[in-house]
Amino acid sequence: MIRIPKKITRLLVIIFSITSFIYLYHGIILPSKSPINFKFNYYKDIPRDQIVEENYEKLVSILKTPINEPKTNNLIKSIDNPSDYKLENATLMIMARNSELNGVIYTIKQIEEKFNSKFNYPYVFLNNEDFNLKFKEKIKKFTKSNLYFEKIQPEIWNQPNWINKERQKNEMKLLKNQNIAYANKLSYHNMCRFYSMNFYNHPRMKQFKYYWRFEPNTDYFCNIDYDVFKFMELNNKIYGFVISLYDSHQSIKSLWTETINFLNLNNFNNKNLINSNAAINFLTENLQNPEKTKFTNGYSTCHFWSNFEIGNMDFFRSNAYNSWVNYLDSTGGFYYERWGDAPVHSIGVSLFANKNDIHWFRDIGYKHHPYTNCPNSNKCNGCEPGKFTFDNLKDQNCLTNWWNFEMDDSAKQIY
Ligand code: GDP
Ligand code: MN
Repeated sequence: MIRIPKKITRLLVIIFSITSFIYLYHGIILPSKSPINFKFNYYKDIPRDQIVEENYEKLVSILKTPINEPKTNNLIKSIDNPSDYKLENATLMIMARNSELNGVIYTIKQIEEKFNSKFNYPYVFLNNEDFNLKFKEKIKKFTKSNLYFEKIQPEIWNQPNWINKERQKNEMKLLKNQNIAYANKLSYHNMCRFYSMNFYNHPRMKQFKYYWRFEPNTDYFCNIDYDVFKFMELNNKIYGFVISLYDSHQSIKSLWTETINFLNLNNFNNKNLINSNAAINFLTENLQNPEKTKFTNGYSTCHFWSNFEIGNMDFFRSNAYNSWVNYLDSTGGFYYERWGDAPVHSIGVSLFANKNDIHWFRDIGYKHHPYTNCPNSNKCNGCEPGKFTFDNLKDQNCLTNWWNFEMDDSAKQIY
Protein backbone atom coordinates (compact mmCIF):
# COMPACT_ATOMS: atom_id res chain seq x y z
CA MET A 1 0.00 0.00 0.00
CA ILE A 2 1.27 3.41 -0.93
CA ARG A 3 1.54 5.79 1.96
CA ILE A 4 0.64 9.38 1.15
CA PRO A 5 2.69 11.64 3.35
CA LYS A 6 0.59 13.49 5.91
CA LYS A 7 1.71 16.85 4.55
CA ILE A 8 0.32 16.09 1.11
CA THR A 9 -2.98 14.80 2.53
CA ARG A 10 -3.36 18.00 4.52
CA LEU A 11 -2.59 20.06 1.42
CA LEU A 12 -5.18 18.11 -0.60
CA VAL A 13 -7.81 18.63 2.10
CA ILE A 14 -7.09 22.38 2.14
CA ILE A 15 -7.28 22.63 -1.68
CA PHE A 16 -10.50 20.61 -1.69
CA SER A 17 -12.06 22.84 0.99
CA ILE A 18 -11.11 26.07 -0.79
CA THR A 19 -12.44 24.83 -4.14
CA SER A 20 -15.70 23.67 -2.57
CA PHE A 21 -16.09 27.00 -0.81
CA ILE A 22 -15.56 28.96 -4.03
CA TYR A 23 -17.98 26.68 -5.86
CA LEU A 24 -20.63 27.04 -3.16
CA TYR A 25 -20.07 30.76 -2.86
CA HIS A 26 -20.61 31.35 -6.55
CA GLY A 27 -23.32 28.77 -7.08
CA ILE A 28 -25.44 29.29 -4.00
CA ILE A 29 -24.31 32.23 -1.91
CA LEU A 30 -23.92 34.43 -4.98
CA PRO A 31 -26.75 33.21 -7.21
CA SER A 32 -26.38 36.25 -9.49
CA LYS A 33 -23.26 34.63 -10.96
CA SER A 34 -25.32 32.71 -13.46
CA PRO A 35 -26.94 33.58 -16.79
CA ILE A 36 -30.14 35.56 -16.69
CA ASN A 37 -33.30 33.55 -17.07
CA PHE A 38 -36.55 35.51 -17.24
CA LYS A 39 -39.74 33.59 -16.63
CA PHE A 40 -43.27 34.62 -17.51
CA ASN A 41 -45.39 33.65 -14.51
CA TYR A 42 -48.87 33.21 -15.91
CA TYR A 43 -50.45 30.39 -17.84
CA LYS A 44 -53.86 30.27 -19.46
CA ASP A 45 -55.18 27.22 -21.24
CA ILE A 46 -57.52 29.05 -23.60
CA PRO A 47 -57.24 29.78 -27.31
CA ARG A 48 -55.31 32.81 -28.41
CA ASP A 49 -58.32 34.44 -30.11
CA GLN A 50 -60.22 34.28 -26.86
CA ILE A 51 -57.34 35.97 -25.04
CA VAL A 52 -57.36 38.76 -27.63
CA GLU A 53 -61.11 39.24 -27.11
CA GLU A 54 -60.89 39.14 -23.31
CA ASN A 55 -58.02 41.62 -23.26
CA TYR A 56 -59.81 43.95 -25.65
CA GLU A 57 -63.05 43.84 -23.70
CA LYS A 58 -61.18 44.63 -20.54
CA LEU A 59 -59.42 47.56 -22.23
CA VAL A 60 -62.72 48.98 -23.43
CA SER A 61 -64.31 48.61 -20.00
CA ILE A 62 -61.36 50.40 -18.36
CA LEU A 63 -61.48 53.17 -20.94
CA LYS A 64 -65.22 53.62 -20.44
CA THR A 65 -64.91 53.96 -16.66
CA PRO A 66 -65.39 57.63 -15.82
CA ILE A 67 -62.27 59.47 -14.75
CA ASN A 68 -61.21 62.94 -13.81
CA GLU A 69 -57.75 63.96 -12.64
CA PRO A 70 -55.26 61.80 -10.72
CA LYS A 71 -56.28 61.60 -7.05
CA THR A 72 -52.83 62.17 -5.66
CA ASN A 73 -53.81 65.18 -3.53
CA ASN A 74 -50.79 67.04 -4.79
CA LEU A 75 -51.80 68.38 -8.21
CA ILE A 76 -50.44 71.84 -8.94
CA LYS A 77 -52.55 74.24 -11.00
CA SER A 78 -51.20 77.50 -12.37
CA ILE A 79 -54.57 79.10 -11.67
CA ASP A 80 -53.70 78.95 -7.94
CA ASN A 81 -50.88 81.50 -8.27
CA PRO A 82 -50.70 82.78 -11.85
CA SER A 83 -48.38 85.75 -11.29
CA ASP A 84 -45.26 83.99 -10.04
CA TYR A 85 -45.74 80.42 -11.11
CA LYS A 86 -42.48 78.50 -10.89
CA LEU A 87 -42.11 76.06 -13.77
CA GLU A 88 -40.57 72.62 -13.43
CA ASN A 89 -37.29 72.21 -15.34
CA ALA A 90 -39.09 70.82 -18.38
CA THR A 91 -39.75 71.26 -22.08
CA LEU A 92 -42.09 70.17 -24.83
CA MET A 93 -40.01 68.49 -27.52
CA ILE A 94 -40.68 67.59 -31.14
CA MET A 95 -38.59 66.39 -34.04
CA ALA A 96 -39.82 67.50 -37.43
CA ARG A 97 -38.83 68.43 -40.94
CA ASN A 98 -39.48 71.87 -42.42
CA SER A 99 -42.04 70.24 -44.70
CA GLU A 100 -44.09 69.16 -41.67
CA LEU A 101 -44.88 72.74 -40.59
CA ASN A 102 -48.64 72.40 -40.97
CA GLY A 103 -48.77 69.15 -39.01
CA VAL A 104 -46.68 70.71 -36.25
CA ILE A 105 -49.00 73.73 -36.05
CA TYR A 106 -52.04 71.44 -36.05
CA THR A 107 -50.80 69.75 -32.87
CA ILE A 108 -49.26 72.76 -31.11
CA LYS A 109 -52.59 74.58 -31.34
CA GLN A 110 -54.19 71.73 -29.39
CA ILE A 111 -51.39 71.43 -26.83
CA GLU A 112 -51.55 75.18 -26.21
CA GLU A 113 -55.33 75.21 -25.87
CA LYS A 114 -55.58 72.14 -23.65
CA PHE A 115 -52.45 72.56 -21.51
CA ASN A 116 -49.62 74.89 -22.23
CA SER A 117 -51.32 78.29 -22.41
CA LYS A 118 -51.93 77.78 -18.67
CA PHE A 119 -48.22 77.21 -17.98
CA ASN A 120 -46.03 78.38 -20.88
CA TYR A 121 -43.44 75.63 -20.88
CA PRO A 122 -40.74 76.15 -23.55
CA TYR A 123 -40.59 74.13 -26.77
CA VAL A 124 -37.54 72.44 -28.31
CA PHE A 125 -37.75 71.73 -32.05
CA LEU A 126 -35.23 69.20 -33.36
CA ASN A 127 -34.22 68.63 -36.95
CA ASN A 128 -31.30 67.03 -38.78
CA GLU A 129 -31.33 70.12 -41.02
CA ASP A 130 -31.64 73.81 -40.19
CA PHE A 131 -35.19 75.01 -39.63
CA ASN A 132 -36.02 77.67 -42.22
CA LEU A 133 -37.26 81.16 -41.46
CA LYS A 134 -40.81 80.40 -42.53
CA PHE A 135 -41.02 77.49 -40.08
CA LYS A 136 -39.71 79.55 -37.18
CA GLU A 137 -41.82 82.64 -37.88
CA LYS A 138 -45.04 80.68 -38.32
CA ILE A 139 -44.64 78.66 -35.13
CA LYS A 140 -44.14 81.83 -33.08
CA LYS A 141 -47.70 82.87 -33.85
CA PHE A 142 -49.19 80.01 -31.88
CA THR A 143 -47.51 80.31 -28.48
CA LYS A 144 -46.10 82.80 -26.00
CA SER A 145 -43.51 80.29 -24.80
CA ASN A 146 -39.77 80.35 -25.40
CA LEU A 147 -38.87 78.45 -28.57
CA TYR A 148 -35.59 76.72 -29.29
CA PHE A 149 -34.94 75.60 -32.88
CA GLU A 150 -32.10 73.10 -32.83
CA LYS A 151 -30.07 71.19 -35.36
CA ILE A 152 -28.94 67.63 -34.68
CA GLN A 153 -25.29 67.46 -35.69
CA PRO A 154 -24.50 65.01 -38.54
CA GLU A 155 -22.01 63.04 -36.42
CA ILE A 156 -24.86 62.30 -33.99
CA TRP A 157 -27.57 61.87 -36.64
CA ASN A 158 -25.81 59.64 -39.19
CA GLN A 159 -24.92 56.02 -38.67
CA PRO A 160 -21.46 55.33 -37.17
CA ASN A 161 -18.79 54.82 -39.83
CA TRP A 162 -18.10 51.23 -38.72
CA ILE A 163 -21.58 50.13 -39.87
CA ASN A 164 -21.10 47.77 -42.80
CA LYS A 165 -22.95 49.60 -45.58
CA GLU A 166 -23.26 46.54 -47.76
CA ARG A 167 -24.78 44.49 -44.95
CA GLN A 168 -27.04 47.39 -43.98
CA LYS A 169 -28.34 47.66 -47.53
CA ASN A 170 -29.04 43.93 -47.78
CA GLU A 171 -30.78 43.71 -44.42
CA MET A 172 -32.89 46.79 -45.19
CA LYS A 173 -34.00 45.18 -48.41
CA LEU A 174 -34.88 41.91 -46.67
CA LEU A 175 -36.99 43.72 -44.08
CA LYS A 176 -38.65 45.85 -46.73
CA ASN A 177 -39.66 42.67 -48.55
CA GLN A 178 -41.42 41.61 -45.35
CA ASN A 179 -43.41 44.86 -45.44
CA ILE A 180 -41.73 46.36 -42.39
CA ALA A 181 -42.60 50.07 -42.42
CA TYR A 182 -39.69 52.42 -43.19
CA ALA A 183 -37.29 49.44 -43.31
CA ASN A 184 -35.40 50.86 -46.30
CA LYS A 185 -35.54 54.48 -45.16
CA LEU A 186 -32.16 55.33 -43.66
CA SER A 187 -33.40 58.60 -42.09
CA TYR A 188 -36.00 56.62 -40.12
CA HIS A 189 -33.26 54.39 -38.68
CA ASN A 190 -31.32 57.55 -37.76
CA MET A 191 -34.40 59.03 -36.09
CA CYS A 192 -35.02 55.86 -34.04
CA ARG A 193 -31.39 55.69 -32.94
CA PHE A 194 -31.37 59.39 -32.02
CA TYR A 195 -34.52 59.03 -29.90
CA SER A 196 -33.18 55.83 -28.33
CA MET A 197 -29.79 57.03 -27.18
CA ASN A 198 -29.04 60.66 -27.98
CA PHE A 199 -31.95 63.07 -27.50
CA TYR A 200 -31.30 63.51 -23.76
CA ASN A 201 -27.68 64.48 -24.43
CA HIS A 202 -28.43 67.05 -27.12
CA PRO A 203 -26.80 70.31 -25.92
CA ARG A 204 -30.18 72.04 -25.66
CA MET A 205 -31.98 69.11 -24.05
CA LYS A 206 -29.20 68.82 -21.47
CA GLN A 207 -30.47 71.90 -19.66
CA PHE A 208 -33.80 70.20 -18.88
CA LYS A 209 -34.82 67.39 -16.57
CA TYR A 210 -38.27 66.52 -17.96
CA TYR A 211 -39.53 66.36 -21.55
CA TRP A 212 -42.89 65.81 -23.16
CA ARG A 213 -42.41 64.37 -26.61
CA PHE A 214 -45.05 65.09 -29.22
CA GLU A 215 -45.44 64.58 -32.96
CA PRO A 216 -46.96 66.42 -35.90
CA ASN A 217 -50.59 65.60 -36.74
CA THR A 218 -51.42 64.07 -33.37
CA ASP A 219 -54.56 65.02 -31.42
CA TYR A 220 -55.05 66.06 -27.81
CA PHE A 221 -58.70 65.83 -26.76
CA CYS A 222 -58.84 66.80 -23.07
CA ASN A 223 -58.22 69.83 -20.92
CA ILE A 224 -55.21 69.22 -18.71
CA ASP A 225 -55.50 71.71 -15.88
CA TYR A 226 -52.67 70.46 -13.64
CA ASP A 227 -48.95 70.66 -14.26
CA VAL A 228 -47.99 67.24 -15.63
CA PHE A 229 -44.28 67.86 -15.04
CA LYS A 230 -44.84 68.70 -11.38
CA PHE A 231 -47.02 65.58 -11.22
CA MET A 232 -43.98 63.57 -12.36
CA GLU A 233 -41.67 65.27 -9.87
CA LEU A 234 -43.96 65.16 -6.84
CA ASN A 235 -44.95 61.54 -7.40
CA ASN A 236 -41.50 60.24 -8.31
CA LYS A 237 -42.51 59.19 -11.81
CA ILE A 238 -39.78 58.65 -14.35
CA TYR A 239 -41.88 57.75 -17.40
CA GLY A 240 -45.43 58.46 -18.53
CA PHE A 241 -47.31 57.01 -21.52
CA VAL A 242 -50.83 56.88 -22.97
CA ILE A 243 -50.93 53.92 -25.38
CA SER A 244 -49.32 50.48 -25.21
CA LEU A 245 -48.97 48.13 -28.19
CA TYR A 246 -47.19 45.12 -29.65
CA ASP A 247 -44.45 45.75 -32.20
CA SER A 248 -43.62 44.23 -35.56
CA HIS A 249 -41.34 41.46 -34.32
CA GLN A 250 -39.29 41.31 -37.54
CA SER A 251 -37.99 44.81 -36.83
CA ILE A 252 -36.46 43.81 -33.48
CA LYS A 253 -35.32 40.26 -34.12
CA SER A 254 -32.23 40.39 -31.91
CA LEU A 255 -33.11 43.26 -29.55
CA TRP A 256 -34.03 40.97 -26.66
CA THR A 257 -31.19 38.52 -27.25
CA GLU A 258 -28.72 41.41 -27.25
CA THR A 259 -30.30 42.75 -24.07
CA ILE A 260 -29.79 39.36 -22.41
CA ASN A 261 -26.21 39.31 -23.71
CA PHE A 262 -25.66 42.70 -22.11
CA LEU A 263 -27.13 41.56 -18.79
CA ASN A 264 -24.81 38.55 -18.78
CA LEU A 265 -21.70 40.69 -19.31
CA ASN A 266 -19.16 41.49 -16.58
CA ASN A 267 -19.25 37.97 -15.21
CA PHE A 268 -23.08 38.23 -14.98
CA ASN A 269 -22.81 41.33 -12.80
CA ASN A 270 -24.78 43.54 -15.22
CA LYS A 271 -27.79 41.63 -13.96
CA ASN A 272 -27.54 43.73 -10.83
CA LEU A 273 -28.63 46.75 -12.89
CA ILE A 274 -32.14 45.28 -13.12
CA ASN A 275 -34.58 47.00 -10.75
CA SER A 276 -35.90 44.73 -8.00
CA ASN A 277 -39.41 45.82 -9.00
CA ALA A 278 -38.97 45.50 -12.79
CA ALA A 279 -41.93 44.88 -15.12
CA ILE A 280 -40.76 41.45 -16.29
CA ASN A 281 -44.19 39.97 -17.02
CA PHE A 282 -45.08 42.83 -19.37
CA LEU A 283 -41.85 42.19 -21.24
CA THR A 284 -42.06 38.41 -21.41
CA GLU A 285 -45.82 37.76 -21.82
CA ASN A 286 -46.52 35.05 -24.38
CA LEU A 287 -50.28 34.51 -24.38
CA GLN A 288 -51.79 37.04 -26.77
CA ASN A 289 -49.23 37.01 -29.59
CA PRO A 290 -47.06 33.97 -28.76
CA GLU A 291 -45.43 33.98 -32.19
CA LYS A 292 -43.90 37.35 -31.39
CA THR A 293 -42.41 36.23 -28.06
CA LYS A 294 -41.06 33.14 -29.79
CA PHE A 295 -39.54 35.05 -32.69
CA THR A 296 -37.68 37.47 -30.41
CA ASN A 297 -36.51 34.73 -28.04
CA GLY A 298 -38.55 35.95 -25.11
CA TYR A 299 -39.76 39.53 -25.61
CA SER A 300 -43.51 40.04 -26.01
CA THR A 301 -42.71 43.16 -28.12
CA CYS A 302 -45.09 45.07 -25.83
CA HIS A 303 -44.05 48.68 -25.53
CA PHE A 304 -45.25 52.16 -24.63
CA TRP A 305 -45.92 54.09 -27.81
CA SER A 306 -43.25 56.77 -27.81
CA ASN A 307 -44.85 59.39 -30.05
CA PHE A 308 -46.31 60.67 -26.78
CA GLU A 309 -44.16 60.33 -23.72
CA ILE A 310 -43.30 62.38 -20.65
CA GLY A 311 -40.02 61.37 -19.12
CA ASN A 312 -37.36 62.19 -16.59
CA MET A 313 -34.09 62.45 -18.51
CA ASP A 314 -32.03 61.77 -15.39
CA PHE A 315 -33.19 58.19 -15.86
CA PHE A 316 -32.09 58.07 -19.51
CA ARG A 317 -28.76 59.62 -18.50
CA SER A 318 -28.20 56.97 -15.80
CA ASN A 319 -25.42 54.41 -15.95
CA ALA A 320 -27.85 51.48 -16.30
CA TYR A 321 -29.77 52.87 -19.29
CA ASN A 322 -26.71 54.31 -20.97
CA SER A 323 -24.40 51.35 -20.71
CA TRP A 324 -27.18 49.12 -22.03
CA VAL A 325 -28.16 51.33 -24.95
CA ASN A 326 -24.52 51.90 -25.91
CA TYR A 327 -24.04 48.16 -25.92
CA LEU A 328 -27.12 47.83 -28.15
CA ASP A 329 -25.68 50.42 -30.51
CA SER A 330 -22.39 48.54 -30.73
CA THR A 331 -24.23 45.56 -32.22
CA GLY A 332 -25.40 47.63 -35.20
CA GLY A 333 -29.05 46.62 -34.67
CA PHE A 334 -30.37 50.11 -35.33
CA TYR A 335 -29.20 49.63 -38.94
CA TYR A 336 -29.02 45.88 -39.59
CA GLU A 337 -32.54 45.62 -38.15
CA ARG A 338 -35.02 48.46 -37.61
CA TRP A 339 -35.14 48.81 -33.86
CA GLY A 340 -37.67 51.47 -32.87
CA ASP A 341 -37.09 53.90 -30.03
CA ALA A 342 -40.39 52.79 -28.48
CA PRO A 343 -39.31 49.20 -27.68
CA VAL A 344 -35.88 50.50 -26.61
CA HIS A 345 -37.35 53.06 -24.18
CA SER A 346 -39.88 50.52 -22.96
CA ILE A 347 -37.41 47.70 -22.30
CA GLY A 348 -35.13 50.28 -20.64
CA VAL A 349 -37.72 51.64 -18.22
CA SER A 350 -39.33 48.25 -17.62
CA LEU A 351 -35.99 46.65 -16.66
CA PHE A 352 -34.06 49.43 -14.97
CA ALA A 353 -36.82 51.46 -13.27
CA ASN A 354 -39.31 50.59 -10.57
CA LYS A 355 -42.58 49.77 -12.33
CA ASN A 356 -44.45 51.93 -9.81
CA ASP A 357 -42.61 54.91 -11.29
CA ILE A 358 -44.07 54.27 -14.75
CA HIS A 359 -47.40 56.04 -15.15
CA TRP A 360 -50.31 55.57 -17.52
CA PHE A 361 -51.72 59.05 -18.19
CA ARG A 362 -55.20 57.65 -18.49
CA ASP A 363 -56.68 61.16 -18.34
CA ILE A 364 -54.80 62.46 -21.39
CA GLY A 365 -56.96 62.03 -24.49
CA TYR A 366 -54.66 61.38 -27.43
CA LYS A 367 -54.63 60.09 -30.97
CA HIS A 368 -51.83 59.08 -33.29
CA HIS A 369 -53.34 57.25 -36.21
CA PRO A 370 -54.59 54.49 -35.91
CA TYR A 371 -54.78 54.30 -32.07
CA THR A 372 -56.64 56.48 -29.57
CA ASN A 373 -56.66 56.91 -25.81
CA CYS A 374 -60.07 58.45 -25.15
CA PRO A 375 -61.00 58.95 -21.48
CA ASN A 376 -64.60 59.06 -20.33
CA SER A 377 -64.31 62.52 -18.81
CA ASN A 378 -66.12 65.83 -19.10
CA LYS A 379 -62.72 67.42 -19.72
CA CYS A 380 -62.58 65.72 -23.14
CA ASN A 381 -64.02 66.54 -26.53
CA GLY A 382 -63.83 65.04 -30.00
CA CYS A 383 -63.21 61.35 -29.32
CA GLU A 384 -65.36 58.37 -28.39
CA PRO A 385 -64.57 56.75 -25.00
CA GLY A 386 -63.69 53.09 -25.42
CA LYS A 387 -62.88 53.35 -29.13
CA PHE A 388 -59.22 52.35 -29.21
CA THR A 389 -58.69 51.30 -32.82
CA PHE A 390 -60.10 49.40 -35.82
CA ASP A 391 -61.41 45.86 -35.29
CA ASN A 392 -58.60 44.24 -37.27
CA LEU A 393 -56.00 45.77 -34.91
CA LYS A 394 -57.55 44.57 -31.65
CA ASP A 395 -54.76 42.06 -31.08
CA GLN A 396 -52.22 44.90 -30.96
CA ASN A 397 -53.52 46.13 -27.60
CA CYS A 398 -50.99 45.56 -24.84
CA LEU A 399 -52.40 47.90 -22.23
CA THR A 400 -54.42 45.13 -20.62
CA ASN A 401 -51.18 43.27 -19.93
CA TRP A 402 -49.74 46.33 -18.23
CA TRP A 403 -52.94 46.65 -16.19
CA ASN A 404 -53.15 42.94 -15.30
CA PHE A 405 -49.52 42.16 -14.62
CA GLU A 406 -47.80 45.34 -13.52
CA MET A 407 -50.21 47.88 -12.00
CA ASP A 408 -50.82 47.48 -8.30
CA ASP A 409 -54.07 48.50 -6.59
CA SER A 410 -52.87 51.96 -5.69
CA ALA A 411 -51.94 52.64 -9.33
CA LYS A 412 -55.38 51.42 -10.46
CA GLN A 413 -57.17 53.56 -7.91
CA ILE A 414 -55.39 56.78 -8.76
CA TYR A 415 -58.35 57.95 -10.85
P1 GDP B 1 -44.11 56.91 -37.30
O1 GDP B 1 -44.92 57.60 -36.23
O2 GDP B 1 -43.35 55.75 -36.77
O3 GDP B 1 -44.91 56.60 -38.51
O4 GDP B 1 -42.96 57.93 -37.77
P2 GDP B 1 -43.04 59.46 -38.15
O5 GDP B 1 -42.91 59.64 -39.60
O6 GDP B 1 -44.21 60.11 -37.48
O7 GDP B 1 -41.70 60.01 -37.48
C1 GDP B 1 -41.53 60.14 -36.09
C2 GDP B 1 -41.09 61.55 -35.72
O8 GDP B 1 -39.78 61.80 -36.21
C3 GDP B 1 -41.96 62.64 -36.30
O9 GDP B 1 -41.99 63.70 -35.36
C4 GDP B 1 -41.24 63.05 -37.56
O10 GDP B 1 -41.49 64.38 -37.86
C5 GDP B 1 -39.78 62.86 -37.16
N1 GDP B 1 -38.90 62.44 -38.25
C6 GDP B 1 -38.83 61.22 -38.85
N2 GDP B 1 -37.86 61.19 -39.79
C7 GDP B 1 -37.29 62.42 -39.77
C8 GDP B 1 -36.21 63.02 -40.51
O11 GDP B 1 -35.58 62.42 -41.37
N3 GDP B 1 -35.91 64.31 -40.22
C9 GDP B 1 -36.59 65.03 -39.27
N4 GDP B 1 -36.23 66.29 -39.05
N5 GDP B 1 -37.60 64.49 -38.56
C10 GDP B 1 -37.94 63.21 -38.81
MN1 MN C 1 -45.74 59.43 -36.16
